[in-house]
Amino acid sequence: MPKKRKIRADFRKNREKPARVRDWTQQFAEHGFETSDPEQRERVSGKGDISRRRTVIGSEISTDDDGTFGVEIDVDESRCLSGRVLSAHGLFNVVLGADGLQYQCAVRRVLKTLATDERHVVVAGDVVLFQPIEGTEPREGVIERVQPRYGTLSRSSRGRKHVILANVDQLLIVGSAAEPRLKPNLIDRFLVSAEKSGIRPIICINKVDLVDRAALMPLVGVYSQMGYRVLLLSATDGIGIERLRGVVGGGECAVAGQSGVGKSSLLNALDPELQLKVSAVSEDSQKGKHTTTAARLVPLRSGGFVVDTPGIRPFELWDVIPEEVAGYFRDVRPFVSHCRFPNCTHTHETDCAVKDAVADDLIDARRYESYCGMVAGETRSEEHT
Ligand code: GDP
Ligand code: ZN
Repeated sequence: MPKKRKIRADFRKNREKPARVRDWTQQFAEHGFETSDPEQRERVSGKGDISRRRTVIGSEISTDDDGTFGVEIDVDESRCLSGRVLSAHGLFNVVLGADGLQYQCAVRRVLKTLATDERHVVVAGDVVLFQPIEGTEPREGVIERVQPRYGTLSRSSRGRKHVILANVDQLLIVGSAAEPRLKPNLIDRFLVSAEKSGIRPIICINKVDLVDRAALMPLVGVYSQMGYRVLLLSATDGIGIERLRGVVGGGECAVAGQSGVGKSSLLNALDPELQLKVSAVSEDSQKGKHTTTAARLVPLRSGGFVVDTPGIRPFELWDVIPEEVAGYFRDVRPFVSHCRFPNCTHTHETDCAVKDAVADDLIDARRYESYCGMVAGETRSEEHT
Protein backbone atom coordinates (compact mmCIF):
# COMPACT_ATOMS: atom_id res chain seq x y z
CA MET A 1 0.00 0.00 0.00
CA PRO A 2 1.28 3.46 -0.82
CA LYS A 3 1.98 5.84 1.99
CA LYS A 4 -1.17 7.79 2.70
CA ARG A 5 -1.33 11.17 4.32
CA LYS A 6 -4.36 13.41 4.53
CA ILE A 7 -3.98 16.75 2.85
CA ARG A 8 -6.09 19.73 2.02
CA ALA A 9 -5.66 21.90 -1.01
CA ASP A 10 -7.49 25.02 -2.11
CA PHE A 11 -8.78 25.55 -5.59
CA ARG A 12 -10.16 28.66 -7.14
CA LYS A 13 -13.77 28.26 -7.99
CA ASN A 14 -14.09 30.71 -10.79
CA ARG A 15 -16.34 29.75 -13.63
CA GLU A 16 -15.47 32.64 -15.93
CA LYS A 17 -11.82 31.79 -16.12
CA PRO A 18 -10.83 28.14 -16.23
CA ALA A 19 -8.53 27.10 -13.42
CA ARG A 20 -5.05 26.66 -14.68
CA VAL A 21 -2.29 24.38 -13.60
CA ARG A 22 -0.25 27.42 -12.66
CA ASP A 23 -2.78 28.40 -9.99
CA TRP A 24 -2.37 25.04 -8.40
CA THR A 25 1.38 25.01 -8.51
CA GLN A 26 1.56 28.52 -7.17
CA GLN A 27 -0.76 27.76 -4.30
CA PHE A 28 1.14 24.65 -3.51
CA ALA A 29 4.36 26.61 -3.43
CA GLU A 30 2.81 29.16 -1.09
CA HIS A 31 0.91 26.91 1.26
CA GLY A 32 2.03 23.37 0.67
CA PHE A 33 -0.23 20.55 1.75
CA GLU A 34 -1.95 21.17 5.06
CA THR A 35 -2.87 18.39 7.38
CA SER A 36 -6.57 18.28 8.05
CA ASP A 37 -9.43 16.41 9.62
CA PRO A 38 -10.15 13.36 7.46
CA GLU A 39 -13.84 13.60 8.36
CA GLN A 40 -14.23 16.77 6.35
CA ARG A 41 -15.16 16.27 2.75
CA GLU A 42 -15.76 19.21 0.54
CA ARG A 43 -17.18 22.57 1.42
CA VAL A 44 -17.74 25.91 -0.14
CA SER A 45 -16.72 28.50 2.34
CA GLY A 46 -18.18 31.83 3.53
CA LYS A 47 -17.81 35.27 2.03
CA GLY A 48 -16.02 37.63 -0.28
CA ASP A 49 -12.99 36.59 -2.20
CA ILE A 50 -12.70 33.49 -0.13
CA SER A 51 -16.09 32.28 -1.35
CA ARG A 52 -14.57 31.75 -4.75
CA ARG A 53 -12.39 29.09 -3.24
CA ARG A 54 -13.40 25.56 -2.74
CA THR A 55 -11.54 23.32 -0.37
CA VAL A 56 -11.08 19.78 -1.45
CA ILE A 57 -9.96 17.22 1.02
CA GLY A 58 -7.91 14.37 -0.23
CA SER A 59 -4.92 12.19 0.44
CA GLU A 60 -1.43 12.47 -0.86
CA ILE A 61 -0.67 9.17 -2.48
CA SER A 62 1.65 7.56 -4.94
CA THR A 63 -0.36 7.74 -8.15
CA ASP A 64 1.91 5.89 -10.46
CA ASP A 65 4.18 2.89 -10.36
CA ASP A 66 7.18 5.15 -10.78
CA GLY A 67 6.42 6.72 -7.40
CA THR A 68 5.13 10.06 -8.64
CA PHE A 69 3.06 11.64 -5.92
CA GLY A 70 -0.32 13.11 -6.45
CA VAL A 71 -3.58 13.73 -4.70
CA GLU A 72 -6.42 11.31 -4.27
CA ILE A 73 -9.66 13.21 -3.97
CA ASP A 74 -12.13 12.05 -1.37
CA VAL A 75 -15.49 11.41 -2.97
CA ASP A 76 -18.85 10.28 -1.75
CA GLU A 77 -18.38 6.66 -2.67
CA SER A 78 -21.99 5.75 -1.96
CA ARG A 79 -23.05 7.76 -5.00
CA CYS A 80 -20.31 6.41 -7.25
CA LEU A 81 -19.79 3.35 -9.35
CA SER A 82 -16.46 1.77 -10.01
CA GLY A 83 -15.53 1.39 -13.67
CA ARG A 84 -12.83 0.83 -16.23
CA VAL A 85 -11.97 3.36 -18.89
CA LEU A 86 -12.26 1.66 -22.26
CA SER A 87 -11.15 4.68 -24.22
CA ALA A 88 -10.21 8.22 -23.29
CA HIS A 89 -10.84 11.25 -25.48
CA GLY A 90 -10.92 14.29 -23.25
CA LEU A 91 -14.59 14.96 -22.66
CA PHE A 92 -15.77 11.66 -24.00
CA ASN A 93 -14.39 8.88 -21.93
CA VAL A 94 -16.11 5.57 -22.39
CA VAL A 95 -16.32 3.81 -19.04
CA LEU A 96 -17.51 0.27 -18.47
CA GLY A 97 -19.23 0.37 -15.09
CA ALA A 98 -19.27 -2.39 -12.52
CA ASP A 99 -22.95 -2.74 -13.47
CA GLY A 100 -21.87 -3.98 -16.91
CA LEU A 101 -23.17 -0.87 -18.69
CA GLN A 102 -21.19 1.67 -20.67
CA TYR A 103 -21.19 5.35 -19.78
CA GLN A 104 -19.94 8.43 -21.58
CA CYS A 105 -18.05 10.24 -18.88
CA ALA A 106 -16.76 13.75 -18.48
CA VAL A 107 -14.03 14.46 -15.95
CA ARG A 108 -14.65 16.47 -12.83
CA ARG A 109 -13.02 19.87 -13.09
CA VAL A 110 -10.94 19.50 -9.99
CA LEU A 111 -9.26 16.39 -11.37
CA LYS A 112 -8.12 18.37 -14.37
CA THR A 113 -6.77 21.06 -12.10
CA LEU A 114 -4.69 18.52 -10.26
CA ALA A 115 -3.14 16.96 -13.31
CA THR A 116 0.31 18.16 -14.24
CA ASP A 117 -0.55 17.60 -17.85
CA GLU A 118 -4.19 17.60 -18.84
CA ARG A 119 -3.74 14.87 -21.35
CA HIS A 120 -2.95 12.48 -18.52
CA VAL A 121 -6.04 13.04 -16.46
CA VAL A 122 -7.71 9.87 -17.64
CA VAL A 123 -6.18 7.23 -19.88
CA ALA A 124 -7.48 3.98 -21.33
CA GLY A 125 -7.23 1.22 -18.75
CA ASP A 126 -7.74 3.50 -15.77
CA VAL A 127 -9.85 2.25 -12.90
CA VAL A 128 -12.15 5.11 -11.89
CA LEU A 129 -14.93 6.06 -9.55
CA PHE A 130 -17.66 7.88 -11.40
CA GLN A 131 -21.07 9.27 -10.67
CA PRO A 132 -23.76 8.20 -13.11
CA ILE A 133 -26.11 10.98 -14.19
CA GLU A 134 -29.66 9.74 -13.81
CA GLY A 135 -32.04 9.75 -16.74
CA THR A 136 -29.46 10.13 -19.47
CA GLU A 137 -29.59 8.16 -22.69
CA PRO A 138 -27.00 7.24 -23.82
CA ARG A 139 -25.84 6.93 -20.23
CA GLU A 140 -23.58 9.65 -18.94
CA GLY A 141 -21.47 10.15 -15.88
CA VAL A 142 -18.74 12.21 -14.28
CA ILE A 143 -15.40 10.73 -13.32
CA GLU A 144 -14.67 11.69 -9.73
CA ARG A 145 -11.47 9.81 -9.03
CA VAL A 146 -8.77 7.95 -10.90
CA GLN A 147 -7.37 5.06 -8.86
CA PRO A 148 -3.58 4.59 -8.59
CA ARG A 149 -2.11 3.04 -11.70
CA TYR A 150 0.22 0.14 -12.20
CA GLY A 151 1.71 -1.28 -15.39
CA THR A 152 1.57 1.91 -17.41
CA LEU A 153 2.81 2.28 -20.96
CA SER A 154 4.07 5.72 -21.77
CA ARG A 155 5.84 7.62 -24.44
CA SER A 156 7.75 10.78 -24.01
CA SER A 157 6.86 13.75 -26.09
CA ARG A 158 9.02 16.84 -25.88
CA GLY A 159 10.71 15.49 -22.79
CA ARG A 160 7.50 14.86 -20.89
CA LYS A 161 6.16 11.50 -19.93
CA HIS A 162 2.82 10.84 -21.48
CA VAL A 163 0.94 7.83 -20.16
CA ILE A 164 -1.11 6.21 -22.90
CA LEU A 165 -2.33 3.10 -21.16
CA ALA A 166 -2.73 2.04 -17.54
CA ASN A 167 -3.07 -1.17 -15.56
CA VAL A 168 -1.65 -3.58 -18.09
CA ASP A 169 -0.23 -6.95 -16.99
CA GLN A 170 1.20 -8.25 -20.22
CA LEU A 171 2.53 -6.85 -23.46
CA LEU A 172 2.04 -9.05 -26.49
CA ILE A 173 4.94 -8.14 -28.73
CA VAL A 174 3.79 -9.21 -32.15
CA GLY A 175 6.11 -9.69 -35.09
CA SER A 176 5.61 -11.71 -38.24
CA ALA A 177 7.89 -14.42 -39.57
CA ALA A 178 7.45 -12.92 -43.05
CA GLU A 179 5.47 -10.23 -44.89
CA PRO A 180 6.71 -8.01 -43.30
CA ARG A 181 9.96 -9.77 -42.47
CA LEU A 182 10.84 -10.47 -38.86
CA LYS A 183 12.62 -7.58 -37.13
CA PRO A 184 14.24 -8.89 -33.95
CA ASN A 185 15.64 -5.46 -33.11
CA LEU A 186 12.12 -4.16 -32.90
CA ILE A 187 11.21 -7.00 -30.54
CA ASP A 188 14.21 -6.02 -28.40
CA ARG A 189 13.03 -2.46 -28.25
CA PHE A 190 9.56 -3.47 -27.09
CA LEU A 191 11.16 -5.78 -24.54
CA VAL A 192 12.99 -2.82 -23.04
CA SER A 193 9.74 -0.83 -22.88
CA ALA A 194 8.00 -3.73 -21.16
CA GLU A 195 10.85 -4.29 -18.70
CA LYS A 196 10.86 -0.62 -17.84
CA SER A 197 7.11 -0.60 -17.24
CA GLY A 198 7.11 -3.81 -15.22
CA ILE A 199 4.80 -5.41 -17.74
CA ARG A 200 5.34 -9.08 -18.61
CA PRO A 201 6.33 -9.34 -22.26
CA ILE A 202 5.11 -12.23 -24.42
CA ILE A 203 6.85 -12.56 -27.78
CA CYS A 204 4.41 -13.56 -30.50
CA ILE A 205 5.72 -14.50 -33.91
CA ASN A 206 2.79 -14.65 -36.30
CA LYS A 207 2.49 -15.92 -39.89
CA VAL A 208 4.64 -19.00 -39.24
CA ASP A 209 2.57 -20.65 -41.99
CA LEU A 210 4.71 -18.70 -44.45
CA VAL A 211 8.11 -20.05 -43.33
CA ASP A 212 10.00 -23.15 -42.27
CA ARG A 213 9.56 -23.02 -38.52
CA ALA A 214 12.92 -24.72 -37.90
CA ALA A 215 14.62 -21.58 -39.18
CA LEU A 216 13.09 -19.60 -36.31
CA MET A 217 14.44 -21.88 -33.59
CA PRO A 218 17.78 -20.14 -32.95
CA LEU A 219 15.98 -16.87 -32.32
CA VAL A 220 13.33 -18.54 -30.18
CA GLY A 221 16.17 -20.17 -28.21
CA VAL A 222 17.84 -16.85 -27.45
CA TYR A 223 14.66 -15.35 -26.02
CA SER A 224 13.60 -18.49 -24.19
CA GLN A 225 16.97 -18.69 -22.46
CA MET A 226 16.37 -15.23 -21.08
CA GLY A 227 13.11 -16.44 -19.60
CA TYR A 228 10.77 -14.85 -22.13
CA ARG A 229 7.75 -16.71 -23.37
CA VAL A 230 7.74 -17.08 -27.17
CA LEU A 231 4.68 -18.17 -29.12
CA LEU A 232 4.79 -19.26 -32.75
CA LEU A 233 1.44 -18.42 -34.27
CA SER A 234 -0.60 -18.29 -37.39
CA ALA A 235 -3.83 -16.36 -37.25
CA THR A 236 -4.91 -17.69 -40.62
CA ASP A 237 -4.10 -21.38 -39.97
CA GLY A 238 -4.99 -21.38 -36.28
CA ILE A 239 -1.51 -22.42 -35.18
CA GLY A 240 -0.83 -21.70 -31.50
CA ILE A 241 -4.13 -19.87 -30.96
CA GLU A 242 -5.14 -22.07 -28.03
CA ARG A 243 -1.82 -21.36 -26.32
CA LEU A 244 -2.28 -17.67 -26.98
CA ARG A 245 -5.73 -17.85 -25.44
CA GLY A 246 -4.22 -19.39 -22.32
CA VAL A 247 -1.61 -16.64 -22.10
CA VAL A 248 -4.16 -13.87 -22.63
CA GLY A 249 -6.29 -15.34 -19.84
CA GLY A 250 -3.37 -14.73 -17.46
CA GLY A 251 -3.76 -10.96 -17.31
CA GLU A 252 -4.76 -7.93 -19.27
CA CYS A 253 -2.83 -7.59 -22.48
CA ALA A 254 -1.71 -4.69 -24.57
CA VAL A 255 -0.76 -5.57 -28.12
CA ALA A 256 2.21 -3.96 -29.81
CA GLY A 257 3.88 -4.45 -33.16
CA GLN A 258 4.28 -2.76 -36.48
CA SER A 259 1.29 -2.64 -38.77
CA GLY A 260 0.64 -5.61 -41.00
CA VAL A 261 2.08 -8.28 -38.69
CA GLY A 262 -1.41 -9.57 -37.90
CA LYS A 263 -2.34 -8.06 -34.53
CA SER A 264 -5.99 -7.62 -35.45
CA SER A 265 -6.09 -11.04 -37.09
CA LEU A 266 -4.76 -12.66 -33.91
CA LEU A 267 -7.30 -10.91 -31.71
CA ASN A 268 -10.08 -11.90 -34.09
CA ALA A 269 -8.83 -15.49 -33.98
CA LEU A 270 -9.05 -15.35 -30.18
CA ASP A 271 -12.56 -14.01 -30.23
CA PRO A 272 -14.33 -14.04 -33.63
CA GLU A 273 -17.02 -11.73 -32.28
CA LEU A 274 -14.51 -8.90 -32.05
CA GLN A 275 -14.41 -8.47 -35.82
CA LEU A 276 -11.52 -6.02 -35.75
CA LYS A 277 -10.66 -4.57 -39.10
CA VAL A 278 -7.95 -6.51 -40.94
CA SER A 279 -6.05 -4.63 -43.59
CA ALA A 280 -3.99 -6.01 -46.45
CA VAL A 281 -0.25 -5.54 -45.88
CA SER A 282 0.16 -3.67 -49.14
CA GLU A 283 -2.52 -1.20 -48.18
CA ASP A 284 -0.68 1.85 -46.98
CA SER A 285 -3.06 2.48 -44.14
CA GLN A 286 -0.84 4.03 -41.49
CA LYS A 287 1.56 6.27 -43.34
CA GLY A 288 0.71 9.88 -43.93
CA LYS A 289 -2.81 9.64 -42.69
CA HIS A 290 -3.47 11.16 -39.32
CA THR A 291 -4.90 8.08 -37.68
CA THR A 292 -6.00 8.15 -34.09
CA THR A 293 -3.35 7.07 -31.63
CA ALA A 294 -5.83 6.34 -28.89
CA ALA A 295 -5.67 2.95 -27.26
CA ARG A 296 -8.91 1.11 -26.72
CA LEU A 297 -9.74 -1.68 -24.31
CA VAL A 298 -11.64 -4.48 -25.95
CA PRO A 299 -13.60 -6.73 -23.61
CA LEU A 300 -13.13 -10.43 -24.45
CA ARG A 301 -15.94 -12.92 -24.35
CA SER A 302 -13.80 -15.11 -22.12
CA GLY A 303 -13.41 -12.29 -19.59
CA GLY A 304 -10.77 -9.61 -19.25
CA PHE A 305 -9.64 -7.22 -21.92
CA VAL A 306 -7.16 -6.90 -24.69
CA VAL A 307 -5.94 -3.50 -25.70
CA ASP A 308 -6.23 -2.53 -29.30
CA THR A 309 -3.63 0.11 -30.10
CA PRO A 310 -4.42 0.97 -33.69
CA GLY A 311 -2.27 3.99 -34.28
CA ILE A 312 0.48 3.53 -31.75
CA ARG A 313 3.70 3.09 -33.60
CA PRO A 314 6.60 1.19 -32.11
CA PHE A 315 8.81 4.17 -31.43
CA GLU A 316 6.11 6.10 -29.69
CA LEU A 317 6.47 3.77 -26.74
CA TRP A 318 10.09 4.67 -26.41
CA ASP A 319 10.65 6.36 -23.07
CA VAL A 320 14.09 5.05 -22.16
CA ILE A 321 17.38 6.93 -21.91
CA PRO A 322 20.61 5.29 -23.18
CA GLU A 323 22.06 4.83 -19.68
CA GLU A 324 19.08 2.70 -18.70
CA VAL A 325 19.16 0.31 -21.64
CA ALA A 326 21.67 -2.23 -20.26
CA GLY A 327 19.60 -2.63 -17.12
CA TYR A 328 16.61 -3.66 -19.20
CA PHE A 329 18.57 -6.20 -21.27
CA ARG A 330 18.24 -9.38 -19.22
CA ASP A 331 21.23 -10.99 -20.96
CA VAL A 332 23.52 -7.95 -20.62
CA ARG A 333 22.61 -6.98 -17.08
CA PRO A 334 24.51 -9.77 -15.24
CA PHE A 335 27.84 -8.61 -16.70
CA VAL A 336 27.75 -4.85 -16.23
CA SER A 337 29.09 -4.83 -12.69
CA HIS A 338 32.29 -6.52 -13.89
CA CYS A 339 33.32 -3.77 -16.29
CA ARG A 340 36.39 -1.73 -15.41
CA PHE A 341 34.61 1.61 -15.62
CA PRO A 342 31.49 2.08 -13.52
CA ASN A 343 29.98 4.31 -16.22
CA CYS A 344 30.88 1.87 -19.01
CA THR A 345 28.48 2.09 -21.95
CA HIS A 346 29.71 -1.32 -23.19
CA THR A 347 30.34 0.07 -26.65
CA HIS A 348 33.93 1.36 -27.02
CA GLU A 349 35.50 0.96 -23.56
CA THR A 350 38.42 -1.32 -22.72
CA ASP A 351 38.02 -4.09 -20.14
CA CYS A 352 34.33 -4.30 -20.76
CA ALA A 353 32.78 -7.46 -19.32
CA VAL A 354 29.83 -7.19 -21.68
CA LYS A 355 32.02 -7.16 -24.78
CA ASP A 356 34.01 -10.07 -23.36
CA ALA A 357 30.77 -11.97 -22.84
CA VAL A 358 29.81 -11.35 -26.48
CA ALA A 359 33.24 -12.63 -27.60
CA ASP A 360 32.76 -15.74 -25.44
CA ASP A 361 29.28 -16.33 -26.90
CA LEU A 362 27.66 -15.76 -23.53
CA ILE A 363 25.63 -12.94 -25.03
CA ASP A 364 24.07 -13.36 -28.46
CA ALA A 365 25.91 -11.15 -30.97
CA ARG A 366 22.71 -9.96 -32.61
CA ARG A 367 21.27 -8.95 -29.24
CA TYR A 368 24.45 -7.00 -28.52
CA GLU A 369 24.15 -5.17 -31.85
CA SER A 370 20.59 -4.41 -30.99
CA TYR A 371 21.75 -3.00 -27.64
CA CYS A 372 24.37 -0.81 -29.35
CA GLY A 373 21.73 0.52 -31.76
CA MET A 374 19.49 1.55 -28.89
CA VAL A 375 22.29 3.23 -26.96
CA ALA A 376 23.24 5.14 -30.09
CA GLY A 377 19.63 6.28 -30.40
CA GLU A 378 19.30 4.59 -33.74
CA THR A 379 15.89 4.84 -35.34
CA ARG A 380 15.74 3.32 -38.75
CA SER A 381 12.89 4.75 -40.75
CA GLU A 382 11.65 1.36 -41.95
CA GLU A 383 11.00 0.46 -38.34
CA HIS A 384 8.73 3.44 -37.91
CA THR A 385 6.05 1.98 -40.06
P1 GDP B 1 -2.23 -5.59 -38.02
O1 GDP B 1 -1.98 -4.35 -38.81
O2 GDP B 1 -1.02 -5.97 -37.22
O3 GDP B 1 -3.46 -5.55 -37.20
O4 GDP B 1 -2.40 -6.76 -39.09
P2 GDP B 1 -3.74 -7.38 -39.69
O5 GDP B 1 -4.39 -8.26 -38.71
O6 GDP B 1 -4.56 -6.27 -40.27
O7 GDP B 1 -3.16 -8.31 -40.85
C1 GDP B 1 -2.39 -7.80 -41.92
C2 GDP B 1 -2.39 -8.79 -43.08
O8 GDP B 1 -1.71 -9.99 -42.70
C3 GDP B 1 -3.79 -9.22 -43.53
O9 GDP B 1 -3.77 -9.28 -44.93
C4 GDP B 1 -3.95 -10.58 -42.91
O10 GDP B 1 -4.82 -11.39 -43.67
C5 GDP B 1 -2.53 -11.12 -42.96
N1 GDP B 1 -2.28 -12.12 -41.91
C6 GDP B 1 -2.59 -11.99 -40.60
N2 GDP B 1 -2.21 -13.08 -39.90
C7 GDP B 1 -1.67 -13.93 -40.80
C8 GDP B 1 -1.09 -15.23 -40.70
O11 GDP B 1 -1.01 -15.87 -39.66
N3 GDP B 1 -0.59 -15.78 -41.86
C9 GDP B 1 -0.68 -15.15 -43.05
N4 GDP B 1 -0.16 -15.76 -44.12
N5 GDP B 1 -1.21 -13.91 -43.18
C10 GDP B 1 -1.72 -13.32 -42.08
ZN1 ZN C 1 31.10 -2.56 -20.20
